[in-house]
Amino acid sequence: MALDVSPPSEKLLRPRTDKPFQGGLPSRRVHKPTVRFLGGVREIGGNKILIEDGADRILFDFGPSFSPRAEEFYVDYLQPRSTSRAKDLLEFDLIPRVPGLYSREALGDGDLPYTPPEVHGIFVSHAHADHAGYLDLVDPEIPVHVGEGTRTLLSAIETSTRMKYGDHPWRVFQDRSVVRVGRIEVVPFPVDHSIPFAYGFIVRTSEGTLAYTGDFRHHGPRAADTHAFFAAVAEEKVDALLIEGTRAGPDPRRNLSEAGVRSGVDRVLKERSELALACTYPRDIDRLRTLHAAAVEGGRELIVSVRTAHLLTQVAPRFAPGEIPLPGKTAGIHVYARKKRVSYLWERPYLDSALTASEVRDRGRKYLLALDLAHFPELIDLRPPKGSPFIHSMSEPFSEDDVDDKVMHNWLDHFGLEFHQMHASGHASGSELLELVRATGARTVYPIHTEHPEAFEKAGPSVRLPELGETYLIAR
Ligand SMILES: [Zn+2]
Ligand SMILES: [Zn+2]
Repeated sequence: MALDVSPPSEKLLRPRTDKPFQGGLPSRRVHKPTVRFLGGVREIGGNKILIEDGADRILFDFGPSFSPRAEEFYVDYLQPRSTSRAKDLLEFDLIPRVPGLYSREALGDGDLPYTPPEVHGIFVSHAHADHAGYLDLVDPEIPVHVGEGTRTLLSAIETSTRMKYGDHPWRVFQDRSVVRVGRIEVVPFPVDHSIPFAYGFIVRTSEGTLAYTGDFRHHGPRAADTHAFFAAVAEEKVDALLIEGTRAGPDPRRNLSEAGVRSGVDRVLKERSELALACTYPRDIDRLRTLHAAAVEGGRELIVSVRTAHLLTQVAPRFAPGEIPLPGKTAGIHVYARKKRVSYLWERPYLDSALTASEVRDRGRKYLLALDLAHFPELIDLRPPKGSPFIHSMSEPFSEDDVDDKVMHNWLDHFGLEFHQMHASGHASGSELLELVRATGARTVYPIHTEHPEAFEKAGPSVRLPELGETYLIAR
């Protein structure tokens, strides 16, 4: 297969624009199948990949990115109005101006008028917010395709947080089974990531095929799934590979494998006899399994939040019996009772047997407590002895002026807790990415979900840096 060694087109040399969607989608339809990147370009998260084949249009992923631009207008305390979310986001071009995508309600009386659906399906690679967090803006007539586990995770998150995904015709796909939307065929493949039920896809159009990786790693418990996906991509001889590159380019952050995290936690629990604390991502079920196994091995019990207990209970049927620890069913796992004025209905099943701060304080050496940063005020009641270990099992901050990180260290210093960094990323490393790109032999490679797409250029001339909103032929 000939490689494209043509010099970058003028388009690629054009400076990036901050308002790429002002004109909307072009009315002239290109009839050869195309791919267009409406998000996830030079930013981590926010992938919005539009595939068009004649009149058939599908979208892969639809959530907010983690780029600083996303926080220029809306921050924690200042959010779009729930009565007109799309209108309020479109005001600052924070979502693409795509006709026939948003719901009448989300558009409100904004300047993008409501029109009937022109997108015929949205495929969600996994349940992380940067891939699914804008589904609530979508026209309720557009089908949303997800894995069964992702559907369960999304509804558990909806019940236990303020996150909403809207009403849709939910279509559950099966691993490696073809889903047809008009002329387009989509084959979902499970991959290893820091949330279970993550998928990559092979997409076949009337002219050309592509693969979209979603987010992935191959140093976690489901590494074999990632290998099988990339083997299928190589076998398919895809025209285009859309690959995530979260860790491409300079990344000084330390990274362990999941097994490495386990041995690190084992060591800390063995060395220390005080209450041990840990902080993890709330939906990283692999990490919860690791912490539970380490706690049991060290003669302790893991204590999780009510929200984590709810999530584990909801997703349990999607796992083999005994595969994930369940409060009330599995030995060595308990629920922590935070002091709260009101409890929600979904919290109640866990509260009777939940442990209070004084119970945890009195038998501290018997426990490993998973405590979210947002729940740090509990430390005022828990009063862990000075020098108690705190295991930060999340990624290190991106920048040195990370506010959350400073606040966390202020608390740790105040209580004299001993800090341990132990994390296995949800993403493949820069060198692993280059190796995979070379191994797939894709004709064109588009790095997305990365701040450093140019780091992929080392993989060879097939790499093409995508531009936001630009249209590319799938088969070239
Ligand atoms: Zn992501
Ligand atoms: Zn993710």
